[in-house]
Amino acid sequence: MTLTGKVAIVTGSTSGIGLAIARALSGAGAKVVLNGFGDDAEIEALKKELGALHDGADMSDPAAIEQMMRRCADELGGPDILVNNAGIQHVSPVDEFPPEKWDAILAINLSAVFHTTRHALPAMKAKGWGRIINTASAHSLVASPNKSAYVSAKHGVAGFTKTVALEAAKDGVTANCISPGYVWTPLVEKQIPDTMATRGLTRDQVMNDVLLAAQPTKRFVTPQEVASLALYLCSDGAASITGANLSMDGGWTAA
Ligand code: NAD
Repeated sequence: MTLTGKVAIVTGSTSGIGLAIARALSGAGAKVVLNGFGDDAEIEALKKELGALHDGADMSDPAAIEQMMRRCADELGGPDILVNNAGIQHVSPVDEFPPEKWDAILAINLSAVFHTTRHALPAMKAKGWGRIINTASAHSLVASPNKSAYVSAKHGVAGFTKTVALEAAKDGVTANCISPGYVWTPLVEKQIPDTMATRGLTRDQVMNDVLLAAQPTKRFVTPQEVASLALYLCSDGAASITGANLSMDGGWTAA
């Protein structure tokens, strides 16, 4: 498959799943706009590696999102492919959940998906081709304790994606969610200390008895596996897949 001539924005692509998706799309020939935070030198190296632009828009800031989308349209055109992937997590019981963490998770994990999509859709519809791929989560389908904001945001992403799919169905634009189980990335690694503290567990107990407890394969999904599904969703063969919430969770939500 070739994506030569296509422009892709991947939010949260300086790390983890987003970076794997950016590499896969770029490898297929797409011109990629990277987004996300990180070390300047590492971002420069990624830009070079992928021949990509980088826009550091904060996904919690609608004005910065609008600026990034305008910049992409002005400098490269498009985007033809929009991957909403940026996300954060915070682990805490509801009655202790810091309201500012709730607001940040809802803004970055859910509202940003609305803002990028509303700016991207008109050009996609005009071209009669577009791909919107949202990294949701198994937590768009089921809950886990202590993740109220994340579970709420990801359920919202799944609902939003279905709505966009219906609205754009006749325009050659598909909108889908990929819902991974636990993928070994910095986002997962970072929540281990909080879960250890909240539940009084060791690191090994958190890995095996909490994270992988629900994942029947007993192994972490890899970012590359998620990227290969994203790449497939960009292909012509996936033109009729829209409004789907595609699980990649080692059987977690089958149980
Ligand atoms: P990660 O921490 O490795 O990467 C997150 C990316 O988002 C980074 O590039 C970071 O700079 C960026 N980011 C964070 N806040 C941002 C902001 N305000 N503005 C712009 N960029 C921001 O995490 P990951 O595990 O690769 O997660 C990527 C997506 O996958 C998230 O939406 C996450 O919820 C989802 N997900 C992850 C897992 C998992 O187990 N790792 C499972 C299911 C879903």
